[in-house]
Amino acid sequence: MPTTFSSYGGAAEVTGSTHMLEFDGHKVLVDCGLFQGKRIPTEEKNRLFKFKPDEIEAVVLTHGHCDHSCRLPYLGMLGFQGNIFATPATRDIAGLVMADTAHILEKDFEWLKKKKVNYPYGPLFRMKDVLKVLDQFITISYRRTFTVAGSLKCTFHDAGHILGSSMPVLEIGKNRKIGFTGDLGRKGTPIIHDPEYLPPVDYLVCEATYGNRLHDPIDDACRQLTSVIKETVDRGGKIIIPAFAVERTQDLIYYLHVLTDERKIPRIDIFVDSPMAFNATSIFRVHQECYDDNIHEQFLVQNKNPFGFENLHYITNVEESKKLNEYKKPCIIISSSGMCEAGRILHHLKNNVEDPRNTVLVVGFMAVDTLGRRIVERQPEIKIFGQPYKLNAKVKILNTFSAHADYNDIIDFAKHLDLDRLRKVFLVHGEPDSLNEMKTHLLDNGVKTVQVVEPEVKYDIFE
Ligand SMILES: [Zn+2]
Repeated sequence: MPTTFSSYGGAAEVTGSTHMLEFDGHKVLVDCGLFQGKRIPTEEKNRLFKFKPDEIEAVVLTHGHCDHSCRLPYLGMLGFQGNIFATPATRDIAGLVMADTAHILEKDFEWLKKKKVNYPYGPLFRMKDVLKVLDQFITISYRRTFTVAGSLKCTFHDAGHILGSSMPVLEIGKNRKIGFTGDLGRKGTPIIHDPEYLPPVDYLVCEATYGNRLHDPIDDACRQLTSVIKETVDRGGKIIIPAFAVERTQDLIYYLHVLTDERKIPRIDIFVDSPMAFNATSIFRVHQECYDDNIHEQFLVQNKNPFGFENLHYITNVEESKKLNEYKKPCIIISSSGMCEAGRILHHLKNNVEDPRNTVLVVGFMAVDTLGRRIVERQPEIKIFGQPYKLNAKVKILNTFSAHADYNDIIDFAKHLDLDRLRKVFLVHGEPDSLNEMKTHLLDNGVKTVQVVEPEVKYDIFE
């Protein structure tokens, strides 16, 4: 019976990561993520597994981002009863992200019902389905080898992408190894460790989100952040930062804490206005095993909380959030959603974009057709809650915050593999241009064979 690798999501696209290994009659998934995009086609993709969920013996989860974890509750609803293996921090982040997604799906369903939209589907899953799969998790730390199913063993290595993120190296039988990057992070990001280099493997399944892009150096983050804050405060304005609640918000808090302690920025009030960000930060606080040396030296040895300081305020209830509209002094407001599509950030933008003293600081990727993208394009007028607003505030874009490796990072990562042993790299998790360019980069740098993975094709491995 051949051993095969195949992808049922995250191949030739960036969402829905779901990869399968079949060996000796066993079927195991690496990740089971939600597709994201336009409503109807995405809903249909999410509802259709092109394999039988009850035949899956186990899932190995690389990290807690929605596009890697959030179809697990639905997999459970359709009969998957096996173990889900993840690092302890990934289990907690995935739990939070899945619960938040269940909440959004249910609210969306209620909204459609209220608007009397003729929509054929109910929520893909609910909170009770999240709780059921949370019960199926088995957590295990980095660099501890464990058995997944049959003769398949797994060891998690640190991917340096978000808290708890891992690169599983799977070993089938004796010394036949296939590594997965999951989402590969960058060196030098705050809080978490840098990505590890992997031990020798025969195959690598590698992401290529930025296979055709280079990021600004991370060392620039503090310098750029400082100058944006100072300039805005000098004008008497506010800094509004749309940010993802997991990792990006904590990275910002960490930098702002350091900059405040070093007196590089004025001591103004900083509001983190997002219940999800507050919950995510609580998870960051307990997973000190994921921290790098810097955070230990700067905070923990002095018993200081990296995510709490005098002028930092977490806002969880709606009343306090509304009160921020009356706050007249210069301040920083960090809020979600990251792409300005929903959530409290919309109120802050509505109240602040018309004042030229203010700055909207963009620290993350803004997809096409989102309000975030329209702000990045500096369109003179933007619609918020259906009403037009003049975009008079300054717009500053910092590209230093990406949690994904760029192509130079991936080349460096690949060069540290045993290239004599490496038989093939399977490229996933990228748009077509990015995948093709990454393929060329890898071939130019000594990788023998690179396969851009097509969805639902079974590739024989270990022939
Ligand atoms: Zn990710």
